[in-house]
Amino acid sequence: MGKHFKVTSGLLGLKTDLVRAVDGVSLTVNRGETLGLVGESGCGKSTLAKCVMGLDSLSAGRIVFQGRDVADWPEKELRRKMQMIFQDPYSSLNPRQKIGSIIREGLDIHAIGTRAQRRARVEELLGLVGLRPEHGSRYPHEFSGGQRQRVAVARTLALNPDLIVCDEPVSALDVSVQAQILRLLKSLQTRLDLTYVFISHDLSVVSHIADRVAVMYLGRIMEFAPAATLFATPRHPYTEALLSAVLTPDPTRRTERIPLHGELPSPMNPPDGCPFHPRCPKAFDRCPKERPELREVAPDVQVACWLS
Ligand code: SF4
Ligand code: MG
Repeated sequence: MGKHFKVTSGLLGLKTDLVRAVDGVSLTVNRGETLGLVGESGCGKSTLAKCVMGLDSLSAGRIVFQGRDVADWPEKELRRKMQMIFQDPYSSLNPRQKIGSIIREGLDIHAIGTRAQRRARVEELLGLVGLRPEHGSRYPHEFSGGQRQRVAVARTLALNPDLIVCDEPVSALDVSVQAQILRLLKSLQTRLDLTYVFISHDLSVVSHIADRVAVMYLGRIMEFAPAATLFATPRHPYTEALLSAVLTPDPTRRTERIPLHGELPSPMNPPDGCPFHPRCPKAFDRCPKERPELREVAPDVQVACWLS
C-alpha cells in the first residue's frame, strides 16, 4: 500500500488571511482507506480539503498526491483523479437537467467513449449507486434527499476517480438515510478501490466510515489516530469532549458529557499557547503560554497536548 497523498504543511493560506492548519506534520492517506477529518464548523476542514483538491493553495508546506505535488499536476488530470461530494446535493444538481445528463456530464466534457458507450456507462453508474436505468430520464426534484445524494455519488464516479473528498456528505439527510449512504460509500470503496477524505462535524458519522481520524480545532490537528484507537482511547481533551457528546448504544461505555464552554474563537485570531485552552477543562498554567506541537505519543497516534 503506497502513500496515496501526503500533506506536509506549516500554514494553510486563505486568500488574504492565514489559518494555521497543519503544523509541521504530515498527514497521509493510503489507497483504499478513509481519512476522517472532524471538527466544528470553521475549524479549517473544508479549507484543508480544498488544498487537497488543488482548489486552494498552501502558503507553506505541500500536499503530495500519488507522488507528485498537487500544484504540479495538470489541472485536467487532477480533476479526473479527484472528485468531491458536497453536503447539499440539491444545490449542486442543475434542476433543469435530467439525471442521466448530469451523470454523463464529465464523460461529455472529457469526450470519453461514443454516445452509446456513454449511455451504457450512465446505466452502469445508476446501478452502482442503487438506482434504476429509468431514473436517468427524471429530474432532481423528483427524488428524495438520499436519492439525490446517490446521483451525486454516481456523477463523481463517472470518471473513475482515485480519491473522493466527501464534505459533510450525509449532514443534510435523516439518520436512517445517512446509514444507507454510508453503507453505499463503503461498498463502493471496496468494489472500486476508492480512497476517501471524509469531512464531518459529526464524530458518530465518522466512526462508521473512517479508518483513521484527524481531529481539527481552529485550523490545527489536535489528534490523529487510527479510528478504533481514537474512539476507544481519546487522548486529547477536545477529542474527549467531542466523544462525550456522542450517544453510544452501550450504556457501560457512556461517559459523562463534557461541556465545552465558550464560543469557538476566530480561526484568524487563535488564542496564544494551546488554541483549545480557553475551553479546555484540563488547562493548566503552561497551556496559555506555550503551544504544544503534534507529537507521536503512541504508535500511529499523534496528539497536541501538554498532558500527553
Ligand atoms: Fe488542554 Fe492544556 Fe492539553 Fe491544551 S495543552 S488540550 S489546554 S491540557
Ligand atoms: Mg465546511
